[in-house]
Amino acid sequence: MSWPNWLPIREQLRELSPYGAPQIDVPVRLNTNENPYQLSQSLQEGLANRLNKVLADLNRYPDRDAVELRGQLGESVQRETGVQLDQRWIWAANGSNEIIQSIALAFDGDGLGFVPSYSMQPLILQGVGKRWHSRNRGANFEVEIDGAIDAISSTGARLVFLTTPNNPTGNSTPIDQIQRLAQACLASGALLIVDEAYAEFSDEPSAITLISKHPNILVTRTMSKAYAFAGARLGYLVADPRVIEAMFLVRLPYHLSSLTQAAALAALSLHDELSRDVARLRQSRDELADQMRALGLLVWPSQANFLLFSGFARDAKELWEFLVSQGVLVRDVGIPGHLRVTIGTSSENQRFLASLAAALKG
Ligand SMILES: *Cc1c(COP(=O)(O)O)cnc(C)c1O
Repeated sequence: MSWPNWLPIREQLRELSPYGAPQIDVPVRLNTNENPYQLSQSLQEGLANRLNKVLADLNRYPDRDAVELRGQLGESVQRETGVQLDQRWIWAANGSNEIIQSIALAFDGDGLGFVPSYSMQPLILQGVGKRWHSRNRGANFEVEIDGAIDAISSTGARLVFLTTPNNPTGNSTPIDQIQRLAQACLASGALLIVDEAYAEFSDEPSAITLISKHPNILVTRTMSKAYAFAGARLGYLVADPRVIEAMFLVRLPYHLSSLTQAAALAALSLHDELSRDVARLRQSRDELADQMRALGLLVWPSQANFLLFSGFARDAKELWEFLVSQGVLVRDVGIPGHLRVTIGTSSENQRFLASLAAALKG
């Protein structure tokens, strides 16, 4: 990007590119890891009722501290993980990206991440003026723990990011390794931010179970993926109450609108229905992986709602373009020879497979 001279753009931002997953209007969109199932009629009605009730009060500011919502999020986390907590352990914001930004605003030090991983973590940290360090993952995209521990002390980074299950590779970091990373972070005064955007699709226990012993672990979650709620924008943080208190210092007043709070409360009350879709997606993921392997592709094992694959003879960009021409949008994540596909509905998955088979023959 070239910026005009009259614009005092910060030096650090000059060379960066904005986040830009293509939003192309094609029939089969499998590129941003959304839940493909639309909200059911009953959920839509529940939502409309809830929103109706807040409409009369839109002249007033929302609950600044989102106490009811944070309480309900806490109960939902407690049901899932068995960890006792209440709203003092929860922060909520407009997507987990805002959570990451608030963490970056509140706490000192550089960022460190293990790549390939979620590209917004470095972009958000640089956006608030921080330096970013990265270390490569191993041959199977695993975090090499000894090397990671060295990097934590040698970089002096104090905001260490671990995405698990990792995006875009799909693999998880085992809980005992997360514990070792947290210990290394504690020794160098760092926080370990565990991004669990895909936790609901995984068999690994959540890092939330470690927080009471390791208060330097911060777990970020989102309703955008498993909860089929990407359009509503709701992310949350589970952490020690002293971490949450720091979030109050950097949040914008009334950042979470009454509409968002009401919509999220309605969605949480229909949790059981949504978790059925998660089970369905996990099963489709494993079936689709087998079907892709039967086409001769290399498909990385995944604990998330997407698959990273390679083993096609052509250039990734060329295959991506061919699939778009067939009405199927997947993601070129910038790993040479690889593409990432989000698990869709059965018919979307079949359409993706058919286009893929055509590409591999052609
Ligand atoms: C999708 C995603 C998020 C962000 O989601 P929000 O919609 O902002 O809640 C965060 N982290 C990872 C790893 C993701 O893939």
